[in-house]
Amino acid sequence: MDGRDHPVGRTAYPALVPTLDDLLHAAVAGVGGTERPGQVQMAHAVAEAIDGSGHLLVQAGTGTGKSLAYLVPAVRHAVDTGRPAVVATATLALQAQVVDRDMPRLADAVAPLLGRRPTYCLVKGRRNYLCAHKLHGGFPDDDADALMSVGAVDQQASRLGAEVVRLREWAEVTESGDRDELVPGVSERAWRQVSVSAEECLGSRCPMVAECFVERSREAARDVDVIVTNHSFMAIDAFEGRQMLPEHDVLVIDEGHELVDRVTSTITDELTPGMVRAAARRAGRQADASSTLDEAADLLESVLEPAPEGRLTGIPDSLAMALGRVRDTARAVQSELKPAQGDEPDAARQVARAAVDEVYDNACRVLEERELDVVWVSRDPRRGPVLRVAPMSVAALVREKVFDERTVVLTSATLELGGSFDAVAGTIGLRGDGAPPWRGLDVGSPFDYPQQGIAYVARHLPAPGRDGLATETLDEIEALVRAAGGRTLGLFSSMRAAREATDAMRERFADAQGDIAFLCQGEDQISTLVRQFARDPRTCLFGTLSLWQGVDVPGSSCQLVLIDRIPFPRPDDPLASARSQAIARMGGNGFMAVSATHAALRLAQGAGRLIRRADDRGVVAFLDHRMMTARYAGFLQRSLPPFWPTADREMVLAALRRLDETASPPLPVAEPALRGLAGALAGPVGDTARAADAAAPVPERPVAEAPPPAASSRTAVTHGHAWTAQEDEELRDGTELGLTLDELAESMELPPETVAARLAGLGLEAGRGPTLTFG
Ligand code: SF4
Repeated sequence: MDGRDHPVGRTAYPALVPTLDDLLHAAVAGVGGTERPGQVQMAHAVAEAIDGSGHLLVQAGTGTGKSLAYLVPAVRHAVDTGRPAVVATATLALQAQVVDRDMPRLADAVAPLLGRRPTYCLVKGRRNYLCAHKLHGGFPDDDADALMSVGAVDQQASRLGAEVVRLREWAEVTESGDRDELVPGVSERAWRQVSVSAEECLGSRCPMVAECFVERSREAARDVDVIVTNHSFMAIDAFEGRQMLPEHDVLVIDEGHELVDRVTSTITDELTPGMVRAAARRAGRQADASSTLDEAADLLESVLEPAPEGRLTGIPDSLAMALGRVRDTARAVQSELKPAQGDEPDAARQVARAAVDEVYDNACRVLEERELDVVWVSRDPRRGPVLRVAPMSVAALVREKVFDERTVVLTSATLELGGSFDAVAGTIGLRGDGAPPWRGLDVGSPFDYPQQGIAYVARHLPAPGRDGLATETLDEIEALVRAAGGRTLGLFSSMRAAREATDAMRERFADAQGDIAFLCQGEDQISTLVRQFARDPRTCLFGTLSLWQGVDVPGSSCQLVLIDRIPFPRPDDPLASARSQAIARMGGNGFMAVSATHAALRLAQGAGRLIRRADDRGVVAFLDHRMMTARYAGFLQRSLPPFWPTADREMVLAALRRLDETASPPLPVAEPALRGLAGALAGPVGDTARAADAAAPVPERPVAEAPPPAASSRTAVTHGHAWTAQEDEELRDGTELGLTLDELAESMELPPETVAARLAGLGLEAGRGPTLTFG
């Protein structure tokens, strides 16, 4: 221990904070691994950043154990200062790993050193939780047909009806109300029957606020050391100043390569004639102007319907007129819907207001023609024409709102592109005049990539075209999959190509001995498909971009990763082309800054699916000769893990056959965990998920122990004092005896404000004096 004293007036507990090395050592031992130099280096760099050396961008290869490398300094900071740290992830898989596995084990391991068990909590947007009031009929039905059918025998057979019934059964038993706990999941339509948006929620006026899952999760987050959330929630909290997250001075953004896309989609708005009609319908009889809103929807439709898809470089007069009508009629409805002073909370009115506000805000935003906004029309097969508006760049916003007033640690296995952090730093506002101080650190990878993986470029194949996969490309896929004996993850640049390859392979392997099966994205939930792929080595999984982010299959089930073409943005992608043109106008290289950077990031992520553990072996096959021949090939290659490169087809086929013959059995596959407010209630069974990102490969991974119950017996920190369960008991006893705040504070030797904060957290009230009487 370093014996560092606490500043006077903060807290006297714990008197000594263990060193970072001691805590990391305990945490790594707690997860059953061994420390790695990269992990130790990263943990120290994170601690230095927290201590004030500026923001940190840290690239840590798979297998570094990076989650412990940031969680340990974050926990230490929280315990030391009484101020929590926030961890934001992009994917559910990582969120689950942190909440259900890493934090429980870390907390157990460091508790003896810290004198208490660090606490943690998961917080997400309102739509992710059941709404208790809606469940109990407090809101108008979104889908009257579906809801009226619940309980009716003839309708229960319908999928939606069955889903809603299942949701209601689950609502009886869930502690968290968190949608991700429900496996298998339900459709978006069914989920909407039991959830509300932030705008629809009645907030403190809700009659069921005491039972509200969202409020309970926010309440549970108030006093914990580490709050886990997602990029979007963190971004909304930062941009809109909603203060949904407790005050914090440390923010760790894991999967940092996703931040720009997540932030962009968080602040992308859209408007459709259907949305305007739905708003008019919801306003219904509550507002006389709702029929004019309906007419505005017709006008908007008549303008958008014949409009070609693509970017609008200016708002045509006809569209401006239609949008103006939508805006003005929406404003008229808004004023009719305003509740009068003293009105009872009215859920139907609130839902209508939320819908009308959205229509109004989005019409205004498009009409404003903001300098950095890009507007385009796209066509949705279900919803018809959609008008979208998104920011060309989020750099200034992220710099101002995310990197301000807190230390940010941005981490990922892929932050250095073409050998530099500059490309990523530029997209998040860390370059140019006025940029805050930051440093980039690459702690490398514990894997021996040149020994473990081969990067094969099928140089002989024709250039990938727009008309589907060439016969030669399908022949190549077949040859590679046969040599690998299945075990193939196919990552395609479009869903069409993924389906085409799946169909062709199913046909070609129909009579194959060895029963190689092909799964395609969209045939089930991604998590279910991935588990099936991981369980059976004779299975191949084909899919597209979103699969690149969700697959973590260590072991022998994934020994070949196919990438059909360099994943440049589509030439008609309005945002990418607007960004590229803007950079070119300023004298930069728009192609390298936007398209090549986009492709490099996705290639690195996709190729990175292959090696997840120190004993993984395999081949990444690029079916696009431009990986070797194009002028930008060097940039793309430098962005990949350093596999052993080759274009020798026969050598690669022989290597795959050898790997198949000598492969060990697949690793056991995790089943999803049940989740309480603070994380897993029961750990995953046979947990392989993200095994390699723990400190070390764990041959037999223990099931995570349940975290402490999230309700009142949970320990907490108030005003820098860490409360134990025993102290909470003392408080309860004291209040039952009717002790005053001062008496409680005196007996516990704590400042009255510290005790008052904990009493509030426990829902207790200090008395006015002893209530025991002597007869
Ligand atoms: S507070 Fe909002 S989310 Fe919670 S139960 Fe009430 S309406 Fe639903």
